[in-house]
Amino acid sequence: MFMTHLSCTACGLHHKWRQLQNLCTACQKPLFPAYELEAVGRELTRDSLAARREKSLWRYRELLPLPSDVEPVTLGEGGTPLLRADRFGKQIGMANIWIKDESLNPTQSFKARGMSVAVSMAKYLGATKVAVPSAGNAGGALAAYAARAGLEAHIFMPRDTPRANIVECREVGAHVTLIDGLITDCGAEIAKRKEREGWFDMSTLKEPYRVEGKKTLGYELAEQLRWQLPDAILYPTGGGTGLIGMWKAFDEMEALGWIGPNRPRMFSVQASGCAPIVRAFETGENSAAEFPNAHTVASGLRVPKAIGDFLMLKILRESKGDAIAIDDEEMIRVTRELGASEGLFVAPEGAACFAALKLLSLSGQIAPEERVVIFNTGSGIKYIDCYEQ
Ligand SMILES: *Cc1c(COP(=O)(O)O)cnc(C)c1O
Ligand SMILES: [Zn+2]
Repeated sequence: MFMTHLSCTACGLHHKWRQLQNLCTACQKPLFPAYELEAVGRELTRDSLAARREKSLWRYRELLPLPSDVEPVTLGEGGTPLLRADRFGKQIGMANIWIKDESLNPTQSFKARGMSVAVSMAKYLGATKVAVPSAGNAGGALAAYAARAGLEAHIFMPRDTPRANIVECREVGAHVTLIDGLITDCGAEIAKRKEREGWFDMSTLKEPYRVEGKKTLGYELAEQLRWQLPDAILYPTGGGTGLIGMWKAFDEMEALGWIGPNRPRMFSVQASGCAPIVRAFETGENSAAEFPNAHTVASGLRVPKAIGDFLMLKILRESKGDAIAIDDEEMIRVTRELGASEGLFVAPEGAACFAALKLLSLSGQIAPEERVVIFNTGSGIKYIDCYEQ
């Protein structure tokens, strides 16, 4: 294994990795794993990677935590297709649109990536009970990977979470508690009880390894595009773990000499009913205030306050990207538009990005020939209640 330590994303303080760890002990901000990238580079090259048979995200094993002699907790996550969206592109006058289809992951969303890595590490470091607040897909993913690892899972969900998410958690053996409130209220409930109950808190960016699973989005994208990153990436942003993870992957790949210094422009897409990052980006803030009365059918975007807000805002500015909010009605409308032209029943979060692309193309912020990657982060099937029969 090439991981050396955990480093605080805000104050830089180093922490040892050999114990269960949540936030920085000095400033309570997220921790990132650090690796001996020079040593990785001697072992793993773009060519040797191409010859690997492993298709799951564990093909990037040297760039992930977990000692090399320990079996990961896996359900075959990652290795999702990158599809051209020519018909949709043509309808909106764009020639080079790609969809990274994350709905093909175990539990039908990209939350599987983060949970495979985080549950592997939590189990290795001795956790027996894990807990997470979830407004949608994180709960199902944790429930599944915890079952696979033989750990007890405690999932706290807002009462109005899509039915599919609640049912799937219960059916893979998790303890589910429904809360009258938002995901932030669920998180507060876990924080209050975790010590007494012996739960390890698996909230995104409040433990160091979900981001490592999600960073593999960046590695896969680079590999699938033959090490030429796109001009723009549209990412449906809740907690921001995928956005932050991809950016980390880009930095690691540059250090490895696998890509150059150019970066895609990163666009955060949120829901009009819950757009804290859009609001903070527009007003030039470095952190995002809690968004009041958050509501949207895109439950993955219903995150009124994200602990990684300062990291997201920095990435959006550094990459010369933007943040954009989409109405629920538009997400639902674009779901069918995209579905009918490309054959994918996308999650509303994914649909929001296609709606955003239309706006960015109309405003000239993305030019017709530019290479654009859109993340469809989950399957529309989980949101079936939002659609008419
Ligand atoms: C969780 C989730 C998101 C948001 O992901 P973050 O990395 O937390 O920003 C987007 N789409 C879907 C389908 C999700 O489940
Ligand atoms: Zn710190």
